[in-house]
Amino acid sequence: MSADLSELYQQVILDHNRRPRNRGKLPTANRVAHGNNPSCGDECSVHLRLDGDRIAEITFDGSGCAISQASASLMTTQLKGKTAAEAQKLYDEFHHIVTTGEAPAEISDLAAFAGVHTFPARIKCATLGWHAALNALKGDPLPATTETHKD
Ligand code: ZN
Repeated sequence: MSADLSELYQQVILDHNRRPRNRGKLPTANRVAHGNNPSCGDECSVHLRLDGDRIAEITFDGSGCAISQASASLMTTQLKGKTAAEAQKLYDEFHHIVTTGEAPAEISDLAAFAGVHTFPARIKCATLGWHAALNALKGDPLPATTETHKD
């Protein structure tokens, strides 16, 4: 990755930290799931309103490190309007990016997190919000915890 590109990607993460998108509770939510990442102290709740099989609205709230919060913010912008199957596919792409550092050829905000793969302990930070969102979609009443997932 060129220096210019990694600079651009750092700005994506900084920008989501400074101005988190879709942060807060969602009064109309019909699915909620909570996730936590004890190894870093990150917490993230995802609230979403499913309209049929499509995510009509999605918000997150929580606290934790910059990676976890920026990733959750970006995640909400990526998942709005998607079906559960599309959300799973996006998560698979994101997981591939953060575990291998291999970004897709086209410019993608998700690729901003490619650098995370060099810090394996932070992969759980980056995927926390996604785990919570996928659990919310499944209607899983149990809290999402990264401890039960194989990253
Ligand atoms: Zn973290």
